[in-house]
Amino acid sequence: MKAVVWQGINRVQVETVPDPEILQPTDAIVRVTATAICGSDLHLVDGYVPSMVHGDILGHEFMGEVVEVGSEVRKVKVGDRVIVPFPIACGKCWYCQHGLTSLCDNSNPNPKLAEALWGYAGSGIYGYSHITGGYAGGQAQFARTVFADQNLYQVPEGLTDEQVLFLTDILPTGYMGAENCNIQPGDVVAVFGCGPVGLFGIMSAFLLGAGRVIAIDRFPERLEMARQLGAETLNYETDSVFERLKEMTGGRGPDSVMDAVGLESHAGGPGGVADAVKQTTRVLESDRPHALRAAIMACRKGGTVSVPGVYGGLADKIPVGAFMNKGLTMKTGQTHVHRYLDLLMGHIQRGDIDPTQIITHRLSLDEAPHAYQIFKHKHEGCIKCVLDP
Ligand code: NAD
Ligand code: ZN
Repeated sequence: MKAVVWQGINRVQVETVPDPEILQPTDAIVRVTATAICGSDLHLVDGYVPSMVHGDILGHEFMGEVVEVGSEVRKVKVGDRVIVPFPIACGKCWYCQHGLTSLCDNSNPNPKLAEALWGYAGSGIYGYSHITGGYAGGQAQFARTVFADQNLYQVPEGLTDEQVLFLTDILPTGYMGAENCNIQPGDVVAVFGCGPVGLFGIMSAFLLGAGRVIAIDRFPERLEMARQLGAETLNYETDSVFERLKEMTGGRGPDSVMDAVGLESHAGGPGGVADAVKQTTRVLESDRPHALRAAIMACRKGGTVSVPGVYGGLADKIPVGAFMNKGLTMKTGQTHVHRYLDLLMGHIQRGDIDPTQIITHRLSLDEAPHAYQIFKHKHEGCIKCVLDP
């Protein structure tokens, strides 16, 4: 089959690789019908995530048709049309039982590697390096999925792939980002970053009762889309963001601030396990994390900072004095996708959310290297690419 593989920093290629096989009786094979590139994939391409190995298949936002199931799979059937949440849940551990599926204790077969490199182990994640289990990703024609009964989520009749694909990640991520803002009716929410996550964060903030959303980015087409969703916007290249945010909120600052940026896209070093220390040093020596610092400094006293943006390694230049003395609350994490699926599927079916509106590019799997380039550099007005394998 064809698959998108990581061949080093800033090197993404389409290659012919062996078809996936059932390895455990709880596995299922999915024929991928739609897959997308995520801002988190850019961190892999940029070399911020240690333990990528040459030839690893990328992709954690994918859906398709079940073509084979293992002998212990009961609920999922061949022919089912499913979406595949990016964090893998075993369904049985303490974390899964408490709805914290991105922290599952049993789906990451390499917890010691994760603890050694990043200080903690979360759930397994498809196509996201060996510290999250080394699972092959879904930017491919077929994918092996694990704990199928606990993870594969049936798509109801009458919905297109594009309507439901983002349930695998960025729609729940924007929603959890907004939920973590602890929005009270009428609140002002600021969202740093108008990529796919920030845009779904804006839609979700309004759904959860925000009175106003102020969105910050530098790309005109992304700011334009934020305005179409009802946000007021600031361009951080031309506006004094802190001053404007204060002026717009009676001198106080927003009630909550979302960092939907994370590690900023940037060309890195050679990558791989051996480079983990260098990567960490690079992050420490750089002036990061801009967006998280900005979120803490911009938020009103006693407010909430929500961080769906992904960080890795040790990025410690956080203004902890302001954070503590302003009495802020911070909530963050990889998204517990499973717990939002019924709710958000309902919003899609009722038309409260139209996830397709953020798609700017529809390309073939063969065009993935180009798709990565335009998504990374925000060229050609790219906001979100969907690949058809
Ligand atoms: P993206 O790269 O398309 O969007 C990021 C946006 O932030 C860009 O538009 C960029 O111009 C803007 N930006 C950069 N620096 C900024 C700054 N200082 N102030 C304001 N805006 C700034 O990526 P995306 O797909 O929207 O993902 C955003 C983040 O969310 C990434 O870090 C990604 O890894 C993370 N993410 C997290 C989860 C999760 O489970 N928590 C899931 C998916 C994605
Ligand atoms: Zn993602």
